[in-house]
Amino acid sequence: MPFSKLGLSAPIVSAVTELGYTSPTPIQAQAIPVILKGKNLLAAAQTGTGKTASFVLPILERFKDAPKIRAKRIRALILVPTRELALQVEENIALYGKHLPLTSMAMYGGVDSGPQKQRLIQGVDILVATPGRLLDMYTQRALHFDELSLLVLDEADRMLDMGFIEDINKIIERLPKDRQNLLFSATLSKQVRFLAKTAVAHPVEISI
Ligand code: AMP
Repeated sequence: MPFSKLGLSAPIVSAVTELGYTSPTPIQAQAIPVILKGKNLLAAAQTGTGKTASFVLPILERFKDAPKIRAKRIRALILVPTRELALQVEENIALYGKHLPLTSMAMYGGVDSGPQKQRLIQGVDILVATPGRLLDMYTQRALHFDELSLLVLDEADRMLDMGFIEDINKIIERLPKDRQNLLFSATLSKQVRFLAKTAVAHPVEISI
């Protein structure tokens, strides 16, 4: 099945085609139509299955025609456990979104927050962040959630293993209630399902 049959438009299909992707992976074939319908998703998928594109492509599709984002606002938040993953996911967004005017940024701790604050002032459509630094920036009023309508929890099991549950809960409490939620995890353990209960209401469930 070609990417175009999944409901993705030409600029996105050509970006993945230019990267040499000929057809969607199983997680992409299952997740992309669900996400494009606006549904919540709970997905069990390991790294290496193409899971990043399975949420990045429909996020790009959803916001591709949006007006310019305002200062300190974001439309989509992707929470990840580590700086490395934040950089990697953001790199994918830039690659898949190269024919679109959308903006993205990776935000993580352990580095000076000054440049990150400057970047946020310009407005960021899709923010990829680790939970601690995100909460920090929010508390400092460096960003606002009033235009956010989509949340991704990526590698949720690793975020829980790393002790991010309190930060994640604090973040979720502050997000607009009317939003789409996607949770990806290598395993759907009891703890992950517990988190999903508060974060991802009535999800479609996919297991690869
Ligand atoms: P991920 O599971 O998101 O870490 O992706 C694993 C690797 O698969 C990445 O290097 C992607 O560039 C690549 N990839 C993702 N989707 C496809 C696809 N449909 N066809 C070929 N390669 C892909």
